Amino acid sequence: IFAAVEMAPRDPILGLNEAFNADARETKVNLGVGVYYDDNGKIPLLNAVKAAEKARLESMPPRGYQPIEGPSAYAQAVQALLFGKDSALLANGQVITAEALGGTGALKIGADFLKRLNPDATVYISDPSWENHRALFEFAGFKVENYPYYDAATRGVDFAAMKACLGGLPAGSIVVLHACCHNPTGADLTDAQWQEVVGLCRDGGLVPFLDMAYQGFADGIEPDAVAVRHFAASGLQFFVSSSFSKSFSLYGERIGALSIVTAAREESARVLSQLKRVIRTNYSNPPIHGAAVVAAVLSSPELRQMWEDELAGMRDRIRAMRTGLVEALKAEGVSQDFSFVIKQRGMFSYTGLTAEQVERLRTEFGIYAVSTGRICLAALNSRNLAYVARAIAKVVA
Ligand code: PMP
Repeated sequence: IFAAVEMAPRDPILGLNEAFNADARETKVNLGVGVYYDDNGKIPLLNAVKAAEKARLESMPPRGYQPIEGPSAYAQAVQALLFGKDSALLANGQVITAEALGGTGALKIGADFLKRLNPDATVYISDPSWENHRALFEFAGFKVENYPYYDAATRGVDFAAMKACLGGLPAGSIVVLHACCHNPTGADLTDAQWQEVVGLCRDGGLVPFLDMAYQGFADGIEPDAVAVRHFAASGLQFFVSSSFSKSFSLYGERIGALSIVTAAREESARVLSQLKRVIRTNYSNPPIHGAAVVAAVLSSPELRQMWEDELAGMRDRIRAMRTGLVEALKAEGVSQDFSFVIKQRGMFSYTGLTAEQVERLRTEFGIYAVSTGRICLAALNSRNLAYVARAIAKVVA
């Protein structure tokens, strides 16, 4: 049965990690990752998470099955973060939320559900996008196309081209939008541009699917929800996948959610019943731990404050690394203007480094980055920053 099975292409980022691990140089730096590291180069375990886990361990709860859509305390906590706790949509029962296996799992159950609703639709993702978006929607059976997004000349968004494309899509097309901290470019839409995108989705009868993997990593929990809030105010129906992998540093717990905004409470009940069938036939019901921890933190005023402070700490450190890198490059005598790195948001920067320059960083300096020039700012720290800046200065000279 396996004789004709071909070797699948290697995941470019996981391949990079393997090469990094095999590199014996002590000065090596892995900027290819998609994970937040603290200043000691470690993935943090947040104190708010530790406190919630300690309490759970002490209470030794039984491990029965969860509801198919996960616990309601978790759903409520997710909804308050995304829509704001006083949202009229929540009061009207227009939002359903299901716990999912990370942001990826949320996208996947959303994609499977959409395939049943709208099997012939094409899915549009940004050019470029998170590398899993295309494969995920293709594996769910959709045709996937790009809409224009990044403009290498300005290192920002080519909004005119994006608008022209979205404005011409057939009704029913599914449009995947990075709600904040665009991966891989770090270039986000402005508030006013989001309002225009909402208008285009309304006028064109498009199906918006917002992917929110980094809430709190740009400006804060509330400001980072601006895209979701504009869609929420529009009266449109839409999807939101969200993830606590980064904001709670709970990567391996696989904790995220899919939220769907419907037209009315009665519609919500029908939609949830169908989404539950998708979940039931995939993995039956979700795991307990991550949802319990997140719900415990978000529902305790004390732990929530602790989490908000820790999240702000991660955000501020990334920003400090952005400024630090730009200053260090200047100090190395680099004439090229890298100040765009400070304006980009979230964990990543499209540096504009060419594939050849990235290759030189790896071979000559043991610094690993994605060949597109994407680097993870959260992998920089006070010990490797100067070394990285010196190496970049050498390869761009
Ligand atoms: N969407 C985007 C844009 C992402 O960058 C990521 C993670 N890198 C995800 C979704 C998936 O997140 P998770 O690890 O929670 O599945």
